Amino acid sequence: MISTTAKADVKAQVRAWKRAGESIGLVPTMGYLHEGHRSLIERAAAECDHVVVSVFVNPTQFAPGEDLQSYPRDIEADSALCEDAGAALLFHPAPEEMYAPDFCTFVDMDAVSKGLCGASRPTHFRGVCTVVSKLMHIAQPDRAYFGQKDAQQLAVIRRMVRDLDMNVDVVGCPIVREQDGLAKSSRNTYLSAEEREAALVLSRAVAQGRQLVEAGETCAARVIEAMRATIEAQPLARIDYVEAVSWDAIEPVESLEGSVLVALAVYIGSTRLIDNFIIER
Ligand code: AMP
Repeated sequence: MISTTAKADVKAQVRAWKRAGESIGLVPTMGYLHEGHRSLIERAAAECDHVVVSVFVNPTQFAPGEDLQSYPRDIEADSALCEDAGAALLFHPAPEEMYAPDFCTFVDMDAVSKGLCGASRPTHFRGVCTVVSKLMHIAQPDRAYFGQKDAQQLAVIRRMVRDLDMNVDVVGCPIVREQDGLAKSSRNTYLSAEEREAALVLSRAVAQGRQLVEAGETCAARVIEAMRATIEAQPLARIDYVEAVSWDAIEPVESLEGSVLVALAVYIGSTRLIDNFIIER
């Protein structure tokens, strides 16, 4: 596996692969990789000739006061996981490699990115879209892999690729969970033992919502209310949002018909965690 911090190295390797007619899969990440990331890399390795993984804690998607500085980092462990999962190239640039001092071009979106996480993190998706489009330009992937764990991000990237005619297939991958149900996340390392236990309230609320839907409930408000009550019963939990939205446009829905995303963000202590499920009917 090639490991580099230089985008020129990535571009040179990508040119060689393209010349040989070989396909490229891209897995963008912020590192501190776990089994969720691994599932994306393995899927990409199964479907593409070469897999590029990026590890970059992207400053433009963090607002002042968020966890940019404290975000966990371990490039050696990440490198070992990437190699083991079948990546051909690991790109882990420094912020200066991605953002020139006079950098001034951003990818912004008027819809899809405004609700849910975009409401509480208003500059977040502008940073995500900008860095993902830069990574797409650098790695020129045929396919790019994203987890449904960050469901709104997946919807935002799909819309960006469609609107900007980017020549890449966006592949959504299922949420990988811990044995007890907690969605795997690099941020789970912030949780104390007591908070780790309390964090199970997210996956419990998801399971409860899913059960209500499977039992035939079609009223979004009733499902949301039940999920909220479950979360509110946990003293360490503070709800940011629990919402049902259309899966493509991320706009609120009243009825759980068609493709609907039920998503939640909950603070456990000072750690903000997300989870979701998708209804297709
Ligand atoms: P991150 O490093 O958190 O920015 O995540 C990088 C990619 O991995 C994103 O596409 C995430 O949606 C995906 N991902 C993170 N956690 C999980 C998980 N538990 N299951 C599946 N995909 C995940």
